[in-house]
Amino acid sequence: MKTLFWFRRDRRIQDNLALKVAAEASSELHSLFVFPQWLPSRSPLRQHSILASARSLDASLPGGLNPALGNSAEAIASYCKDHEIEKVFATRGFDTSGIAVQEEVSQELALLGVELELVDSYYAVTPGTIRKDDGSPLKVYTPFFKRWYLNGWDSPVSLDTASVNWAPAKLSQWFEPTGNPPFSVKAGEAHALATFERFRERVSRYHEDRNRCDISGTSHLSHALAHGEIHPRTLLAELGKGEGEEVFRKEIAWREFYADVLFHNPHTLHDYLEPRFAKMRFDDPEEHSEKLQSWKSGMTGYPIIDAAMRQLVQTGWMHNRARMIVEKVSRATIKSTKVKSRLPNSMTP
Ligand SMILES: Cc1cc2nc3c(=O)[nH]c(=O)nc-3n(C[C@H](O)[C@H](O)[C@H](O)COP(=O)(O)OP(=O)(O)OC[C@H]3O[C@@H](n4cnc5c(N)ncnc54)[C@H](O)[C@@H]3O)c2cc1C
Repeated sequence: MKTLFWFRRDRRIQDNLALKVAAEASSELHSLFVFPQWLPSRSPLRQHSILASARSLDASLPGGLNPALGNSAEAIASYCKDHEIEKVFATRGFDTSGIAVQEEVSQELALLGVELELVDSYYAVTPGTIRKDDGSPLKVYTPFFKRWYLNGWDSPVSLDTASVNWAPAKLSQWFEPTGNPPFSVKAGEAHALATFERFRERVSRYHEDRNRCDISGTSHLSHALAHGEIHPRTLLAELGKGEGEEVFRKEIAWREFYADVLFHNPHTLHDYLEPRFAKMRFDDPEEHSEKLQSWKSGMTGYPIIDAAMRQLVQTGWMHNRARMIVEKVSRATIKSTKVKSRLPNSMTP
């Protein structure tokens, strides 16, 4: 069967269950990545980060990657028509936007008589799996973690790339960023695995080192996880029982918890989980643009806040502890400036 693999937030070859299922079902496997339509409106760093991730996938796929621009449903349907694709495979999204896009793609493909098969998820435990005894979702992290840990997760899966008949990529619609990044962006599966290997040398100290913003004590894997250049299964499979490893596993579980919360509460993509927070009073950001800008650019005069915000602007990453301080203090700062804003979200693609 001629099939297409639609790469989404799973830009890797190994431990990619959906890709493995697609490969096993294919006599000829095509690959496609559609750059998000909102990408030109994001910072050059974000644009280059996604571009570098896709370029790296292109270089590592034996047949290369077909890049496309525009609406996902249209781009995928057009590719299927042009190449007589019989079935499309992809990893299932459980987030609000991902669900909307995959429904659109599925409907568009149905018009062509092509099925979209969605497999696995971006998480070790599929969002929606962990529930209370009465079947309702968990709203608090600690009981979620206990059940998540007891539930367990599958082992990583590997793909023998030599056994797959990869169709050579022919499209060349690469996204062109609207600006230059502040530094050359490193991305991709090999970079993610190398980052994890380096982190494994210090994971035994993670429970203590993660509390310090002045040293590199954390994994720096958030971008790779967000882009799917590494699957959390791959990380969890290598963790032992040491104190640092236990705490790192709990951080991975935080990511899984928030995915579960978003799955059960799709409105939280844009709205508060607690409706009462909508009653918080803010002033118009335009009237207070100078103060808002000083916060965003790290010029408030509070050294730790400014250091953290500048780190985010310059590197696209902010330390967890710095995030917590910025978030807590910015509430006070924002309260005094009375400007509505949100903590810059650097990771979510
Ligand atoms: C106010 C605030 C806002 C945050 N916003 C984001 C965000 O927009 N995107 C994002 O990916 N992370 C966010 N985090 C989580 C976390 O701070 C960053 O993922 C972390 O700084 C990334 O560094 P690391 O990979 O070295 O983390 P590590 O300490 O090595 O943690 C490993 C992984 O666990 C996950 N993780 C860790 N802490 C959390 C957490 N609190 N919630 C969810 N997942 C977590 C991340 O995927 C991270 O890569 C936020 C945390 C706070 C307190």
